[in-house]
Amino acid sequence: MKILVFFGKPGAGKGTQAALLKEHYNLVHISTGDLFRYNIKNKTPLGILAQSYIDGGDLVPDQVTIDMLEAEVQKNPNAAGFIFDGFPRTQAQAEALDIFLAKQNLNISATVALEASDDVLVERLLKRGETSGRSDDQDEVKIRNRFEEYKQKTAPLKSYYQQQNKFHSVDGIGTLEEISERLTQLIDSI
Ligand code: AMP
Repeated sequence: MKILVFFGKPGAGKGTQAALLKEHYNLVHISTGDLFRYNIKNKTPLGILAQSYIDGGDLVPDQVTIDMLEAEVQKNPNAAGFIFDGFPRTQAQAEALDIFLAKQNLNISATVALEASDDVLVERLLKRGETSGRSDDQDEVKIRNRFEEYKQKTAPLKSYYQQQNKFHSVDGIGTLEEISERLTQLIDSI
C-alpha cells in the first residue's frame, strides 16, 4: 500500500498537489487542515476546540489531531493507499502515526517536503486569503506565526524521516504541472 506524507510550509502547495496525485495514484487524500475547517464550519465540538488555535496560526494540540487522523483512516478500510497532507506536523504526531500504521502492518512509503522561500509563500497566502475566506491567510502576522510553528515543530521531522531513509525534498516553485511532474517522477522511483 502506498502511504505518502506531504509536508512543507503553509502555502507550499501541499493541498493542490495532493489533490492531483490522489487521482493519479488512486489514493485517499486526508488533509488535517481541511478536516478542522469542516468541523469549524459545522460547529462540532472538535471544531469549537480547534478554532482558536487555527485562527491564531498555532498548531492544534497533538492528541486531538492524532485522534482525528486515526478516525479518518479507519473510515477508509478499502483504500488503496493514502496521502497525508499536513500531518504529521510534530515529532509526537510522527511517532503516533508510525505506531498506528505498524499495528495494521503498514508503514509510510515516503515523505515529501515541498520547498519554497518564505517571501514567495507570504505572497501566495495573502493572495489565497483574498478568495479562500481563511482568516489565517489574511493576516501577515498570523502567516509568520504559522511559519514559526513550522520551523520549531515541523522542520525537525526532516531528520526523523531521514533516519528512516524516507525523506525527500521537491522544489515547490514552478507551474502546477511542473511540480506535479517532479512529484510523480519521485514517487514512481520509490
Ligand atoms: P493547513 O490547511 O494544513 O495549512 O492547516 C491549517 C491549520 O490547521 C494549521 O495552521 C493548524 O492550526 C491546524 N492543523 C492542521 N494540521 C495540523 C496538525 N497536523 N497538527 C496541528 N494542527 C494542525
